[in-house]
Amino acid sequence: MSASLATVSYIGATILFILSLGGLSNPESSRRGNLYGIIGMAIAVLATVFGPRVTLGGIPWIIMAMAIGGSIGLYAARKVQMTQMPELVALMHSLVGLAACLVGFASYIDSSVEFTGAEKSIHEVEIYLGILIGAVTFSGSIIAFGKLSGKIGGKPLLLPGRHWLNLAGLLVVIWVGGSFINAETVAGGAFPLLVMTVISLAFGVHMVMAIGGADMPVVVSMLNSYSGWAAAATGFMLSNDLLIVTGALVGSSGAILSYIMCRAMNRNFISVIAGGFGTGGGTVVASADGQPAGEVTAISSQETAELLKDSKSVIIVPGYGMAVAQAQHTVYEITKHLREKGVTVRFGIHPVAGRMPGHMNVLLAEAKVPYDIVMEMDEINDDFPSTDVTMVIGANDIVNPAAQEDPNSPIAGMPVLEVWKAKTSIVMKRSMASGYAGVDNPLFYKDNNRMLFGDAKKMLDEVLAALRA
Ligand code: NDP
Repeated sequence: MSASLATVSYIGATILFILSLGGLSNPESSRRGNLYGIIGMAIAVLATVFGPRVTLGGIPWIIMAMAIGGSIGLYAARKVQMTQMPELVALMHSLVGLAACLVGFASYIDSSVEFTGAEKSIHEVEIYLGILIGAVTFSGSIIAFGKLSGKIGGKPLLLPGRHWLNLAGLLVVIWVGGSFINAETVAGGAFPLLVMTVISLAFGVHMVMAIGGADMPVVVSMLNSYSGWAAAATGFMLSNDLLIVTGALVGSSGAILSYIMCRAMNRNFISVIAGGFGTGGGTVVASADGQPAGEVTAISSQETAELLKDSKSVIIVPGYGMAVAQAQHTVYEITKHLREKGVTVRFGIHPVAGRMPGHMNVLLAEAKVPYDIVMEMDEINDDFPSTDVTMVIGANDIVNPAAQEDPNSPIAGMPVLEVWKAKTSIVMKRSMASGYAGVDNPLFYKDNNRMLFGDAKKMLDEVLAALRA
């Protein structure tokens, strides 16, 4: 393929990537957006493999690497459960970081391209920054994977003097950066490069370990952004314009997502990075004197069905538990049934519900819930007082009134769905365990709240059967 055809293909792929991002911003156009992304990526890969920079002898190697990578990807995509999606995404981010590091080292020791003067310095700065961002992304994403999959606890690890440790690390990285650029030989530059890589890896681990469970949404989107910048850095090292553009698109959209997540949690980015917010999730939280924090009123699935049948308006608030139970299809059946009976049913989606951005929207779309009844938090929060029943399905932190009522709560100030303002709220979960942030939820003890204990799918099946009876 000629250089100009490769350039035209790259421009075409860039346009498709931008259209893809545009499409993904709205559920209705998201399938089309995905398709644009797939076509763009296919063009990008073909134009690179058959482009002017790959020799004929290199093609079998590339095909072999693609076959191995493609098979692993296909296997993972088929095998992974919907609930494991967030950790898979974190793992993918780590691979982008690892690739940036490997490309950095490879292009440093590659003797086939000679750079001199200013060009040499620029190339070395690209390598240094590329490996730095790649290493932080790699190790940070591995820890995020551990935290999201529950292999590492959600409690923040707060080392004494951690900010000073980070600052010292940064100063050493700047200092060895000077020795790297001034090194006369490849062997001379390798040592500072290795020192920086080790510090960056340690920084990535330290940064994510210090972040508490409640701040994980911001970390996930931040690592998404870092993986984009790591890809852009790889693009600079390889002089590949498309990789630079694509990396910058991912990097900047990830940064915007981090901002949206921070706003959704009423946190500022710097305090998220400084860490230490939230504790390990999944424990039963008692009040200060060790006693349960209040009395709860349980309800049966039969009674739940009665309440739903008798209401005019219902708001369903799904959370991580709906994903665990895979209850979205039953939720849709119940929604359909109630709507046929003239009940207004809508969904309220919190921006950090579940374990990854858009988690609930994906599940509801999979179950074919119409988009026009799926509302964002800001669109629906004022409607709770005029609602008969809110059904909270496996959600906890996102409906916690302590965020508004208790200034000492770790989640104080975080905007939440005000489900307790409805005439009756029904919380479906298996026990009194806390959510991901590890904070007790006073909603459970409110007079107008009922607890429907059990696995969400099983209980909803029972509710549906009672509704149909
Ligand atoms: P939570 O983690 O707060 O609560 C989920 C609840 O679901 C738990 O209390 C659990 O209670 C219940 N549950 C689990 N399995 C089942 C089941 N099979 N059937 C019924 N209930 C079940 O989830 P939310 O969605 O309310 O909030 C999201 C949390 O995750 C926030 O703290 C957010 O910061 C964090 N987070 C979000 C990310 C994102 O990008 N969206 C990324 C990382 C973290 P029980 O065990 O008693 O059943």
